[in-house]
Amino acid sequence: MGIQLDAPAKAEGCVERITSHDEPLAGRLKRNEQLVYDALCQSPTPLKAYDLLETLQDHGLRAPMTIYRALEALIAKDCVKKIESLNAFVAVRPSRPAQARAFLICKECMQAREITLDARQVADLFSPIRVSADEVRIEAFGDCHDVCGNGVVGSR
Ligand SMILES: [Zn+2]
Repeated sequence: MGIQLDAPAKAEGCVERITSHDEPLAGRLKRNEQLVYDALCQSPTPLKAYDLLETLQDHGLRAPMTIYRALEALIAKDCVKKIESLNAFVAVRPSRPAQARAFLICKECMQAREITLDARQVADLFSPIRVSADEVRIEAFGDCHDVCGNGVVGSR
């Protein structure tokens, strides 16, 4: 149906990707933003601001405000998303234009996976109630099966 399911949202190799020249993010991140982005890329699960603070203390990021400012900038550049229900953040691929991103969070391992929806899929989703949505956030909780699965539903 065109819905794209990415392997864990903080894709392997995204640290390399943002330093390569053809990547839209190359050179666009300030030092602190890069540190926060890299930390999110390397984490298997979404991180809260205080997790980031703890992780990045040794890099000189010691004030919560510094972390929040970097996160805000990264969100504005569309390379980090906040998972509202967890009050935590994930790195996303900046190069793929999408109308909406949906996150599926495993209750077992807390890994977040990302699905992107295009404008048509978003329109279809809301057409039964005749609403046009321009800001869509979808956060679903379940069992990721691949990693911690018991091989019931959706296993391959
Ligand atoms: Zn899992």
